[in-house]
Amino acid sequence: MSQWISVREARQASSVGGEREVRGWVRTRRDSKGGFSFLELNDGSCFGNLQVVVPGEIENYTTEVQRLTAGCSVVVLGDLQESPAKGQATELHATSVKVIGWADPENYPLQKKRHSFEKLREWAHLRPRTNTFGAVARVRHQISQSIHQFYHEEGFYYCNTPVITASDCEGAGEMFRVTTIDLEGLAARGGKVDYGFDFFEKPTFLTVSGQLEAETYATALGRVYTFGPTFRAENSNTSRHLAEFWMVEPEAAFFDLQDNMQLAERFLKRVFSDCLEHCSEDMEFFDQRIEKGKLQQLQSVIEKPFTHLSYTKAIEILTSCNESFEYPVSWGTDLQAEHERYLTEKYVQGPVILTDYPSCIKPFYMRLSDDEKTVAAMDVLVPGVGEIIGGRQREDRLEVLQNRMSESDLAEKEYWWYLDLRRYGSVPHAGFGLGLERAVQYATGMANIRDVVPFPRTPGNAEF
Ligand code: ATP
Ligand code: MN
Repeated sequence: MSQWISVREARQASSVGGEREVRGWVRTRRDSKGGFSFLELNDGSCFGNLQVVVPGEIENYTTEVQRLTAGCSVVVLGDLQESPAKGQATELHATSVKVIGWADPENYPLQKKRHSFEKLREWAHLRPRTNTFGAVARVRHQISQSIHQFYHEEGFYYCNTPVITASDCEGAGEMFRVTTIDLEGLAARGGKVDYGFDFFEKPTFLTVSGQLEAETYATALGRVYTFGPTFRAENSNTSRHLAEFWMVEPEAAFFDLQDNMQLAERFLKRVFSDCLEHCSEDMEFFDQRIEKGKLQQLQSVIEKPFTHLSYTKAIEILTSCNESFEYPVSWGTDLQAEHERYLTEKYVQGPVILTDYPSCIKPFYMRLSDDEKTVAAMDVLVPGVGEIIGGRQREDRLEVLQNRMSESDLAEKEYWWYLDLRRYGSVPHAGFGLGLERAVQYATGMANIRDVVPFPRTPGNAEF
């Protein structure tokens, strides 16, 4: 009996010797004058291909092997040997090649010709078969694993907060409605909505963040994190925004802003060092073909302490530098992407944590500082991407929270359960949100967020 192994295993020199079976897709075929052929085989298990040497003697050599083209699926039996060729430790000497599925070269879109990332978005069902998107998928997987491992090791419990929600999290973004009301029938009947006939008997939405619900578990289990899909109907057609994305949100009791910043820094360093360690082949590809210098950049992120700047200091820097910005800045205005990028790309040239934003531009749940003008907010910015993490220490004082809510015109009765957390055994607590796709973007250097998620959802686009 031969043993079925992955291309990844087959490429490791230690597995040399003996009969093996490999199953995958042909990337290329090259016929040698010596009467045999080389197949480059990939099964998605790793970046590199396995070289298969097919002798002309095998039974279906002229009838099938010589007709193989990119995309055909095959099962190859053979002898795994050390390879004399450069750049690979092993090669498979085939004793049989069974064709499982043909891929008509006239029509298969992924022929040798290179396609732009824009073009490949139209073939989102086929693009994971390319080098770039295979590598992105493996790095994305690694980052997801690292997230779970990191929080587990730090004593955080994984908590699943609802995707359908009735609370709007104070404008973290525009929300998608969830309803079973027949919209076409409604229009025909004159358009008056009666939520009594809706599924939940009240307006409901897809969540923009699980953070408020996570607080309820943090004030019971101490340390929790949520990790799931998040939806924002914001009409921002940028290279950093999706309508559906994944967010990790840790929340910890007895944490202040300092603890929170340290957690965020340890977290990012762990995620990126895992990418370098466990996806080295994929990361080398990104370094060479997508963003030159990526490996070195990540290495320095891992080694150097993050820079901290207060919002007030950042405004001083932005108003005294000689950069011409599209949007003017002054104390009390929200920073635009161009300002964030100046700070992280030009001023710091690395990750920076901005803290202590004016209360007027931040939501009610962030802790009001003693100056009564700023709140304990923190954003982590990185070059190329901008904001990767948004976080804060929570307002844990009932009265201050109630004041902030009434200033923001929020009805206390909608948030009765949230206020209860401050009524009974209130403690300082803090947390943040990291967009998974922004982390994948930064790790890989991929310029557009649509290319780090399998099926991007953006305004006007929900294909597949
Ligand atoms: P931005 O200012 O970039 O629009 P935000 O301040 O609205 O982001 P938060 O509400 O702080 O974002 O969300 C926390 C994190 O979620 C962000 O730091 C970012 O990594 C990620 N994120 C937010 N919005 C999106 C989006 N539309 N697509 C992908 N990731 C997002
Ligand atoms: Mn934010």
